Amino acid sequence: MHNFAIKRGIWGLMAAGLCLLTLAPSMAAIPKGYGLGPEPDSAARMDPIPKGYGFRPSTEETPVTERFLRPEVCPEIQPLPQLEEEAPAAGPAETTDTVLVSATEQQLKERAASQLRGRGLTKEQNEVLSLRLVSETTLLVLLEEGELTTADLIYLALPNSRAALLDRYNAWAADHPADAPAEVVRQVNLDRDVSFYENIQIVTDPDSLTVLVNKNHALPSDYVPQLETLGSGYGSGSLRPEAAQAFRAMADAARKDGVSLRGVSAYRSFQTQRSVYNRYLYYNSQAVVDTFSARPGSSEHQTGLALDINTANVQAHFETTPAYDWLQKHCAEYGFMLRYLQGKEDITGYRFEPWHYRYVGTEIAKTCMERGITYEEYLALQSN
Ligand SMILES: [Zn+2]
Repeated sequence: MHNFAIKRGIWGLMAAGLCLLTLAPSMAAIPKGYGLGPEPDSAARMDPIPKGYGFRPSTEETPVTERFLRPEVCPEIQPLPQLEEEAPAAGPAETTDTVLVSATEQQLKERAASQLRGRGLTKEQNEVLSLRLVSETTLLVLLEEGELTTADLIYLALPNSRAALLDRYNAWAADHPADAPAEVVRQVNLDRDVSFYENIQIVTDPDSLTVLVNKNHALPSDYVPQLETLGSGYGSGSLRPEAAQAFRAMADAARKDGVSLRGVSAYRSFQTQRSVYNRYLYYNSQAVVDTFSARPGSSEHQTGLALDINTANVQAHFETTPAYDWLQKHCAEYGFMLRYLQGKEDITGYRFEPWHYRYVGTEIAKTCMERGITYEEYLALQSN
């Protein structure tokens, strides 16, 4: 079993070394996970990772030196030492230097290949790992220093695995020995190894149209999106302009088919969500309230990208209405997806809400609606 504390220490030292020894400030690389996410209508179907979720996909065009920093590392780069100057790590300072690989891509590939030799991995795993170790050189250094086990490598050979989650993959696997590596990665990427609200990450890109907000990813309490009212004839409330326009277009199309779609609850502020949640708490236990109302910060309504259509009441049985049928067929054409699916309560943390739709853009919405998957599942499958 590897020691994540050591890894973390190494990453910390790397960060410190990088910050202290900055020599090329003009190369302000964008750390992975901090760059622009895909346009919602991007033609790329599975590759992009929406902002704030994980690492950006690297590209062949990106210089090696701009790719290897982890998000917590300062965004400055120092020139990298020559390979031949590398000596066996004598201590933390040396470790820091060896991380800063000045090697060419070819040299990095050779270093990766020598580390992967004799590990018993398949050709396909070796190919994925080789590319990954070259683009995420912190991983190569950890491997060279004996910090990555073969189990770690098997996870890293899966395109949708996240290096930062290695310890959680191993912990899940220890508790679920029957799960294959792909399933381990899927479950942990879905945050199934933590209870709802137990490990809340504050999203760093609240303005992204593809931001994930749920019981493990919350908006900053002071976040207020740019808003536009839905307008008369479209119900009450307001949404982000992109979502408001898409909703009006969708409602117009539905009307032509004889179906009325009206927003009954759209954007909610942090304060409003807090009042709503607390009001429910007055009558119910927190465990019950958590199944149908979000704690402040964790409501998609606070993004300005989600709305309840026609009702927000279980007793209305919206799922039996022509409006629901119409939405099932057409919502993705306008960039909306049904967010809280039946039978997916353990992933979303909410019971089935046939009325709650989220704007994510047409590409993602179509993928999710066609496959019948939640947004969490879509993201968990995305490659790095
Ligand atoms: Zn809702």
